Amino acid sequence: MNVRDSEVICGLLKNSGYKICGDEKQADVIILNTCSVRQHAEDRVWSQIGSFKKAGNKRLIIGVVGCMAKNYAEKIFERAPDVDFVVGPQDIHKIPEILSKISKDNLFERKVWEVDGSIRPNEIYHNSFYQEKEHAYLVISEGCSNFCSYCVVPFVRGRLRHRELKNIVKEAEDAVAGGLTRITLLGQNVNAYKDGDVNFTKLLQRLDKIAGLKQLTFFTSHPKDTHPDFFKAIRDSEKLLKSLHLPLQSGSDRILKAMNRGYSAKEYLALIDSYRKIVKGALLTSDIIVGFPGESEDDFKQTYDLVKKAEFNAAYIFKYSPRPHTEALKMADDVEKADKEKRHAKLLELQRGISNKKNAK
Ligand code: SAH
Ligand code: SF4
Repeated sequence: MNVRDSEVICGLLKNSGYKICGDEKQADVIILNTCSVRQHAEDRVWSQIGSFKKAGNKRLIIGVVGCMAKNYAEKIFERAPDVDFVVGPQDIHKIPEILSKISKDNLFERKVWEVDGSIRPNEIYHNSFYQEKEHAYLVISEGCSNFCSYCVVPFVRGRLRHRELKNIVKEAEDAVAGGLTRITLLGQNVNAYKDGDVNFTKLLQRLDKIAGLKQLTFFTSHPKDTHPDFFKAIRDSEKLLKSLHLPLQSGSDRILKAMNRGYSAKEYLALIDSYRKIVKGALLTSDIIVGFPGESEDDFKQTYDLVKKAEFNAAYIFKYSPRPHTEALKMADDVEKADKEKRHAKLLELQRGISNKKNAK
């Protein structure tokens, strides 16, 4: 999502006469597009901001945009005095205007410009700036209303909003007309997509028809909104990759409930079983969190056993990171750091073995 947002920002700036510069030492403007999903992502930004010193380049403008901007607003200036402006994820379309104000008016007052916007104008997605030559990311929905108890996304990116079908189709057709042949659809929960009576399956069927488009894929799918009928659509599509990213998060029902995920381990297993039966040769990947508040050795063992059974082609495994605003923040982060690390390493080792075996095939 952030890769696409960065492209949108670059495209808007290019259209306003800026050049994208390959070397930060030569840049007049540096914009950090930030992520707040885990503490580690934020820590990397804090240390990176510090490396862009203004000493040699007094006119260098530094901006912090994206989820950390929303999360910390004014506090960013306290920790990073060289930052000039802060813009949240729903307001990135205002960046060219903000930059022009800062540079034209020689206004070097540090300021949080916008962090409270709710809707991005659709036009910003139609600036035809893509980093890759043949592949485009295409946003179909913004934000999320699922409120998984560990997750900051609904608070920094706002509630779920769907883009209109006609705008998505236009963006895809324009991308293909411009020479791109592969598209990845993006949303925090793509299977919840809706525009009138068009659901995600119908959206895929519509995009499948675009002449010149060779390959289509999407993420992320949430198990609670993913149904066997949808697997038939994957099977029947000419262009869709036979691949699904379906985050599990935990194999313990107790933890899944505390995470507010809306499915049980048994339901998850039944879902992937039906996926593999319907879509022959299908790839399956997942996300898992270890060390969620209250996770006992037994809960972890249930996750371990499920990962063994599920045989994912690959999985991202994360250590739980307490996040502001979330429900889980009210629970004690009581799994010792050493235990989180042990569980993380153990699961990684298991998954590496499974991935190697699958990839060798
Ligand atoms: N909307 C997607 C992706 C959300 S963020 C989904 O629901 O799957 C990507 C992954 O980051 C999540 O799947 C989760 O495994 C992980 N994650 C999110 N918040 C986290 C936290 N507070 N600590 C550790 N991992 C987290
Ligand atoms: Fe976060 Fe859950 Fe929404 Fe994914 S579905 S973005 S994990 S709240």
